[in-house]
Formats: sequence, structure tokens, C-alpha cells
Amino acid sequence: MRLQKLQISGFKSFSDRSELSFDRGVTAIVGPNGCGKSNVADAIVWVLGEQSAKSLRGDQMMDVIFNGSEARKPTAAAEVRLMLSEVTSANRLLSDDEGNREAVARNVEVTRRLYRSGDSEYLINGEQCRLRDVHDLLMDTGLGAKAYAIIEQGKIGQILSSRPTDRRQLIEEAAGVTKYKARRRAAELKLEASQQNLTRIDDIIFEVEKQRSALKRQAAKARRSKRLRDELRRWEQVLFARRSRVLADAI
Ligand code: ATP
Ligand code: MG
Repeated sequence: MRLQKLQISGFKSFSDRSELSFDRGVTAIVGPNGCGKSNVADAIVWVLGEQSAKSLRGDQMMDVIFNGSEARKPTAAAEVRLMLSEVTSANRLLSDDEGNREAVARNVEVTRRLYRSGDSEYLINGEQCRLRDVHDLLMDTGLGAKAYAIIEQGKIGQILSSRPTDRRQLIEEAAGVTKYKARRRAAELKLEASQQNLTRIDDIIFEVEKQRSALKRQAAKARRSKRLRDELRRWEQVLFARRSRVLADAI
């Protein structure tokens, strides 16, 4: 992924919409102390889904919304748009069967908004989405909140002195295995849920089996009772026939 353009409005010291283009080569932002250089890096971190206000050098998330200056009133919302171009090389088979690698560029625009009311939204290519979708999009690209694309002041020292598990996360992201690990975890969770469902179904089968045996016993009893009742009725018929004959003889 390549950073192409950044649009910032109402975010930190950027009251008006500002656009930064990152052309090929190196782009450097220079300016006097406090002019907003680090705010640009904060804007990138923020749009990629940063959840910690502290990492954005604030006390709470609301602090990222432009809160006014002598000349300007505070804005109602903060918005950052990030244009990325994804370059993937695809194999294209030519008619003479010669394999040819062709670079395919796809542009992606990620937007994050935060309103003073507390509402917030994420958009990918103008369509509302969840933070998870942004994470999925960026996984293994080296971008994203816990990645290594943004090396701010003190970050190198932080990486070197971080816990081995945190360092491993960074290396795995660079190696491009994070996505597969996340998918494996999701698959394992699904399997676990299916296992629990199976156990529940086993319990239900056991319960139903118990009821079935009880019903089977009752059915056998009912059949026997019906048989005995029929037999009784037959004997009663014989008896009544005999009585009627005796009575007929007596008349
Ligand atoms: P340095 O060279 O000292 O690192 P810098 O160029 O990185 O400075 P930043 O830290 O990016 O400067 O910007 C700091 C400025 O941003 C401060 O003047 C601060 O008042 C302003 N600022 C931060 N948050 C807001 C906000 N929510 N609303 C308005 N201004 C803000
Ligand atoms: Mg700075």
C-alpha cells in the first residue's frame, strides 16, 4: 500500500480542510515548533483506527476535534480521509502463453469522523463500515494501529525495550502472517462454538431418548390394556348370550 493523499478537517490544529499529497519520493513536512507537524502523523494514526487518546497525545478522544483559536470557532466534528493505492502484481497469461507480471493499482479511501455528540463513523470508499473492516483492510500491510509504518519520536526505543510478545507482533505483521493468525483464531472460536453446540445436542438426544423409552413402555401397556379390554368384551358377549338363552328358556 502506498500513501497518496491525506485530507484533514476539524482535526486538532486543522480547522479548515487541508490536503496533503504524497508524491513519489520523499515528502518532508517542516515548520516551526507547534505548527502541527506531529498532528499530521496523529491524523494518519487516527484514521487507521487508533483507540487510545493517549497515543494521540490527548486525554480523551474528543481532544482531537479542533477546539477553536483566537480567530476561529471550534468545529463540530473532526474528519480525516486517507487515500491509499494498493499495488498488487498479478499474473497475466498472454496469448503466446508467456507469463507476464502486471502491476494492478487499486485505490482505497479510508475515512474516520468524530462528532462532538460522541458519534463516530468509519468509511471505506465512502461506504459506512465497522472499525473491524478497516482493520481487515489494513492487516499485514504494515499500516494500522499496532503496526510499524509510523515510527514516531521514541518508537525505536520503545520497540527495543518492549516485551518479547509485543515485539513478536511487530515482526509477524512485517512477515505478513497476522491475517492468517487472525483467521485461525476466528476459525478456532467457531470450532469451539460448534463443539459446544454438539455437546448441547448430545444432551438433548439423551433427554429425548429417555422420554422415548418411557413412551415405549406406556405404549406397550396401552396395547396390552386394549387387548385385555377386547377379550373382556368378547367374554361379556358370550355371557350375555348365555343369560339371554337361559331367560328365553325360562319364559
Ligand atoms: P514540534 O515541532 O514542537 O514537535 P509540531 O509541529 O509537531 O511541534 P504539533 O504537536 O503537531 O506541533 O501541534 C501542536 C499544536 O496543535 C498546538 O499549538 C496545539 O494547540 C494544537 N492543537 C492540538 N490539538 C488541538 C485542538 N483539538 N484544537 C486546536 N488546536 C489543537
Ligand atoms: Mg512534533
